[in-house]
Amino acid sequence: MTSLPKKNQVILLEQTGESVDVLKFTEVDTPEITSPHDIIVKNKFAGVNFIEAYFRKGIYPVELPSVLGREASGVVAAVGTEVKNFKVGDKVAYLSGATFAQYSKINDSNHRVLKLPESLSDDSLKIYGSALVQGLTAITFISEAHNVQKGEYVLVWAAAGGVGRFLVQLIKERGAHVIAVASSAEKLQIAKDLGAEYTINYTNEDVAAKVNEITKGEGVAAVLDSVGKDTFETSLASLGRKGTFISYGNSSGTVPPLAINRLSAKNITISRPQVFGYTATPAEWEKYTRELFSKIETGALKIELHSAPFSDYKKVATDLESRKTTGKYVLEIPQ
Ligand code: NDP
Repeated sequence: MTSLPKKNQVILLEQTGESVDVLKFTEVDTPEITSPHDIIVKNKFAGVNFIEAYFRKGIYPVELPSVLGREASGVVAAVGTEVKNFKVGDKVAYLSGATFAQYSKINDSNHRVLKLPESLSDDSLKIYGSALVQGLTAITFISEAHNVQKGEYVLVWAAAGGVGRFLVQLIKERGAHVIAVASSAEKLQIAKDLGAEYTINYTNEDVAAKVNEITKGEGVAAVLDSVGKDTFETSLASLGRKGTFISYGNSSGTVPPLAINRLSAKNITISRPQVFGYTATPAEWEKYTRELFSKIETGALKIELHSAPFSDYKKVATDLESRKTTGKYVLEIPQ
């Protein structure tokens, strides 16, 4: 077994706060094998997701101090005596907390770990370490929260963002009509290039009126709304009879409590899913990761990946939260 350094660089949240300045780049003790089922991964790449903002701001509950990060890829550095499926040196990509770190500890009971080929290049390892959260969100939601059908009209908010890009491509692939919404002409062009049939700039257009026009008064079959507070009413107004409202994020703030009888006017189904709930069993994990990466490897799903040094995280988070980014950001972990 390789001996691990005593200290480990991490991005640590000690107290919640609006500003990224509450975050600390610091060193903590490197995790150790304390159970026979533990696995320690030396991370190489860690994907940046909007969820880190919710933990930092205290919108989602978090135990402090907490190392940020939800996904990564790297190399197994140590295993407990009972770990059968992984050995030191294996390349892996995984979902778990505390991945903005040189070393993270997971457990072999976590089925959300992919063993990757030994020959995998660093460029591919980078994709595996940054496509899991957003790719699986998109791929599971359009099958399980609403099974998108050919010919349907589907409204996608933040269409040039991380999850949004995946959604546009996957919904288009199903033969449905994507109505993409974003805040700038540049973002809408990205969505169009990925297959969106209609685009709406919600900074200067009336989204519900435009949807009404596009769908000839029928409304959309489903809306995928990650923006939350600011867009809830517009999403509801844009849905057609028997439509499905998939509310899956709070980029503008959390949606206020809803009087449930508001859904009856159009027989709306509402869902507030999270990706972990659709990848909760090994079979689900295997099915959806296989589908996701086969589409990425064949080029059916196009990825816009931006690499940033670990030390640039605060800038990346600030840009992401102030709507300046498109695509996906991935941190390069110091080796
Ligand atoms: P994005 O790349 O989509 O970035 C967020 C985008 O939201 C912005 O680019 C912006 O696009 C839009 N936005 C609208 N209003 C605001 C606002 N007030 N502040 C900031 N952004 C705003 O991020 P991700 O792909 O990482 O995540 C997208 C959303 O999906 C997040 O809300 C995230 O929490 C959620 N999510 C949920 C999951 C789940 O399991 N439920 C899993 C993964 C992600 P524009 O400028 O075009 O409006």
